[in-house]
Amino acid sequence: MPDLPTMGVADPIAIARDLLRCPSVTPAEGGALTMLETTLGAAGFTVHRMTFSDAGTPDVENFYARIGDSAPHLMFAGHTDVVPPGNEASWSHPPFAGEIVDGTLYGRGAVDMKGGIAACIAAVLDHLAANGGKPKGSISFLITGDEESVAINGTTKLLKWAAEHGEKFDHCILAEPSNVDTLGDTIKIGRRGSLNGTLVVMGKQGHVAYPHRADNPVRGIVALIAALNAEPLDRGSNFFDPSNLEFVSVDVGNKTVNLIPGEARARFNIRFNDRHTLDSLKHLIETRAKKAAGDKIRFRFEWEPSNAGVFVTEPGTFTTMVSDAIASVTGRKPELSSSGGTSDARFIKDYCPVVEFGLVGQSMHAIDEHVPTADLVALTAIYRRILDRYFA
Ligand SMILES: [Zn+2]
Repeated sequence: MPDLPTMGVADPIAIARDLLRCPSVTPAEGGALTMLETTLGAAGFTVHRMTFSDAGTPDVENFYARIGDSAPHLMFAGHTDVVPPGNEASWSHPPFAGEIVDGTLYGRGAVDMKGGIAACIAAVLDHLAANGGKPKGSISFLITGDEESVAINGTTKLLKWAAEHGEKFDHCILAEPSNVDTLGDTIKIGRRGSLNGTLVVMGKQGHVAYPHRADNPVRGIVALIAALNAEPLDRGSNFFDPSNLEFVSVDVGNKTVNLIPGEARARFNIRFNDRHTLDSLKHLIETRAKKAAGDKIRFRFEWEPSNAGVFVTEPGTFTTMVSDAIASVTGRKPELSSSGGTSDARFIKDYCPVVEFGLVGQSMHAIDEHVPTADLVALTAIYRRILDRYFA
């Protein structure tokens, strides 16, 4: 029998509701970070707010708060920015009103991920209240405002800033919505990497009636696409399914039927596992294309810049502690998963081991995004147990 969570001194539902009332669509801060500053500042955290800029992207406000000055150091990471609500008239509860109806809290960001942040904060406040206001180590919050966009002026620069200021982290919990159907069903211990590229085959333009004077790149690109699809990139690894290359568009831009085009292009995306790095993957694709092309097909690859490397936190003491805390509250033994898209964990992994555990993701980015208030209370209890064990 799991022992059911009871509410502590801090109310995660009220914190989540107040955060949902901040219209923080990327890159707007919307009052969300000010609210965190007030709440954590009052609890004794030292708060830093900083704005990062880069050419061609909007400025983004970020947030770092820490309490305690010794190890071990547990970091909670997340983002207060949200995706746009879309057509607000389609919502049955306004996206930035934080309405609670029949035990369900509605609003953009309810699960992704203001609800998760609210649960982290409530759990930390409860833990501090039960321990004389100070942790036996350090607790920090690293919160960005551009996770839902290009992720240039957020977590990656914030982590660099923290490292330059001597901050050292031992473990991180990223409160993204990790569960599939029910709270407690899934912890994410890894994410695949992502790489986009375009295969370009160079031919020679000419009249279709005189093909010997032309070189049709369509023949070449069909052969290279077939070759690249013929063989799997790998057979998977301990923690991941096989990597996948998917062609998403093939273009010659030819409007006529009597012209052999001069060039053909095929764009693709690769979701890759921990058997590859961005560089080794490019090398593998280029080598395979070269082999298939021989000296007949002229081609090149155009690689798009990627900051989406793969990450995995191998199961061990930390993941077991998180799993046990989840099981003790929900009665469920979570699956350790590495599926889904990329997340900010790909940046955090360079500084400390990171796991993702938060709410149930089903309604994220959807109209009427919502969270059962009971899930907020249960998630707070889970984080609280993690904190109690971590600093025992
Ligand atoms: Zn998110």
